[in-house]
Amino acid sequence: MVARAIEAFEKRRRGGARQVGVGQQNSRWRKWRLRGIAVVTFFAIGVFIVMRQGLLPAAWSPLPALDLSSSNTWLVDWRIAELKHDRALCARVLKGPHISASPVSANPVKNGCGWHNAVRISNAGGAALSVGTVSCEVAAGIAMWLTHEVQPRAVALLGSRVTSVQHMGTFSCRDVVGRKFLPAVRSQHATANALDVGGFTLADGRKISVLRHWSGSGVEARFLREIHARACRYFRVAIGPEYNVHHRDHFHYDRGVLSRCK
Ligand SMILES: [Zn+2]
Repeated sequence: MVARAIEAFEKRRRGGARQVGVGQQNSRWRKWRLRGIAVVTFFAIGVFIVMRQGLLPAAWSPLPALDLSSSNTWLVDWRIAELKHDRALCARVLKGPHISASPVSANPVKNGCGWHNAVRISNAGGAALSVGTVSCEVAAGIAMWLTHEVQPRAVALLGSRVTSVQHMGTFSCRDVVGRKFLPAVRSQHATANALDVGGFTLADGRKISVLRHWSGSGVEARFLREIHARACRYFRVAIGPEYNVHHRDHFHYDRGVLSRCK
């Protein structure tokens, strides 16, 4: 009887030890799995930041260089970002017939104002557009937007191509306007990384203006709303009259860090 009790006790002890062993293995496995997930997550975040900020040299990039002639460019935001620091790539990408651009000497950023890797534009997307200094990224975005969104919609909706674009400024050493209760920050205009578009002239002589036509119910308003909605593909910030009163007469397009489309 005593012997049977001892045997039963021993059996329970061995079973318990086995369970402890399996439990330790499970918790070790859980720990490794969590570590694996953390490493993959950090890696993915790192890749996202590096690609979004154009920090990977073009020669190492797994992405093909931006092609202004392609209307359906995948990962277009990252491919435009690759132009940010690369003057040679900028010169290769910004070429006719989609844009007439020439490099501008760097003006090192002081007190939040200046530029690097900027260009001068005289024509983009088949329309006259005279811009003195604008970042290579914004120039590429404008060329793609005009070529693949503005011109096709102008022909389809208004029956005429756009022959010139009226802009309302690029470089301006100033803070963001309209931040009443927030601390002042430099506008993307302070680094020539933004362009304000006020209107368009068509081949038949008509003028389409954000101020006059945005709120209308005609085809001009539809044209403006459709092209503005599609600008979000090429710019991080694409805001217009719906955003605030400061933008009632123009579209503001920039390639900063933040994303906002309205
Ligand atoms: Zn602006």
